[in-house]
Amino acid sequence: MSETRTLWTGGCQCGAVRYAWRAPPLFSSICHCRMCQKASGQPFMALTGGKAEDLRFTRGQPAIFRSSNFAERGFCKDCGTPLTYAFAGSGEISVAVNSLDDPNLAPPTRQFGIESKVSWLDSIHALPAETTDDWLKDKSGSLINHQHPDKD
Ligand SMILES: [Zn+2]
Ligand SMILES: [Zn+2]
Repeated sequence: MSETRTLWTGGCQCGAVRYAWRAPPLFSSICHCRMCQKASGQPFMALTGGKAEDLRFTRGQPAIFRSSNFAERGFCKDCGTPLTYAFAGSGEISVAVNSLDDPNLAPPTRQFGIESKVSWLDSIHALPAETTDDWLKDKSGSLINHQHPDKD
């Protein structure tokens, strides 16, 4: 019962849904469309995907919202993390890049939905920036993390 482990694993914030790709995803992109903005609550969604049969859920299953007749979006019903996107009939599925245990594996190569790109996105590199540790050091009490670790 040995199972090939891959770095292409991921899941939701609470750990109720975990997945593993049997083969590395074939594409990675970001989408600025209003549906991806709403589904993520963020300026854009970064998605990486491949053949639907290569994605296995190793714990739990995402809940599904059919955001249109074309698209199904999966998310964790316990913690709300957006997890998957599937275009009907394509045989392909994508996962949210930052739900991967290592999001650096999937640098996007293309942008979609640029008609909805938020006007301030291109200037964020100029904003004042700090690490989480720097931000936390003025807070009282110590951090108790309830997030599932970036591994199974
Ligand atoms: Zn969850
Ligand atoms: Zn989109």
